[in-house]
Amino acid sequence: MAQNLTSPTTVRDILQSLDIKPSKALGQNFLVDRNILNILLKTAKLTPADHVIEIGPGLGAVTQELLKQTGGVTAIEKDRNLFAYLQHALGSHAGLSLHCADALDMHLGALVEQGSRVVVANLPYVAGSRILMEFAKAPTPPQRMIVTVQKEVGDRLTATPGTSEYGLLSLWIQLIYRTELIHTIPPTCFWPRPTVRSAIVQMIQHTESPALPYADAECLRTVSRYAFMHRRKQLAKLLSQTVQNPAQNKEAWQRVLSECNLDPHARPGALAPQDWRRLTTASLCNCHLSN
Ligand code: SAM
Repeated sequence: MAQNLTSPTTVRDILQSLDIKPSKALGQNFLVDRNILNILLKTAKLTPADHVIEIGPGLGAVTQELLKQTGGVTAIEKDRNLFAYLQHALGSHAGLSLHCADALDMHLGALVEQGSRVVVANLPYVAGSRILMEFAKAPTPPQRMIVTVQKEVGDRLTATPGTSEYGLLSLWIQLIYRTELIHTIPPTCFWPRPTVRSAIVQMIQHTESPALPYADAECLRTVSRYAFMHRRKQLAKLLSQTVQNPAQNKEAWQRVLSECNLDPHARPGALAPQDWRRLTTASLCNCHLSN
């Protein structure tokens, strides 16, 4: 593939020759800025020992660079026409494993277990946060993820407790990863131009604390999902109304929270990931929601 895939003219010409109109529903905003591509790759710090997962390879602008820098790439493209083009353009590359599928229908954790420990992608706006959540929920999450997402999603991925951006996405991702917003990207770096800005976000797995056992993490997700739906309620009351065993009433939950050095009157959005983790280990494991 000798074409310059970060040139807007080239991208437009290839799509036209394939009779493809960029689909909003598939978040098809192609990266047409070499500088941003370089920042994405530099941040990923890839080596030939890495095997990378890319969701949404599109015309292969990122893919062809990943193939040069790593030991292999597993790429998942939902658009059949783009998949066919990629198969023709890059299919002969021994390091490429190309799938035509909706990434959200795939067992993403299994790809990681098979040895792909890094995710690098210019994610489709429409599915970006769901894809990241699926990776983070896997029993073996990727060691690191370096992606472009909508700036607003980038803000949520890196949000601190107590801010309006801090929600389930922040909590679930930050439980596993140290997150950093590396670079803000203007709409002009994509074709067609989106209406909003984007960002490169880096997520690197924490090494200091071992991952929660899978069942505990599931429990944390169930309770926090409910809690963030009622984020104005105070924790002790909220937990007493929703979680069966071990502490049934508000006073019992107040004691549990105090023992975890947490304010029983705090609201769900005030708890940092490590607070949720402590609470889970102390009391939420094996819990059930009462409604
Ligand atoms: N990687 C290319 C680039 O940087 O120019 C294209 C990125 S574009 C933002 C997103 C790509 O993801 C498109 O190729 C789109 O068809 C694909 N896509 C959208 N939803 C998807 C899904 N659920 N699973 C897999 N691919 C998807």
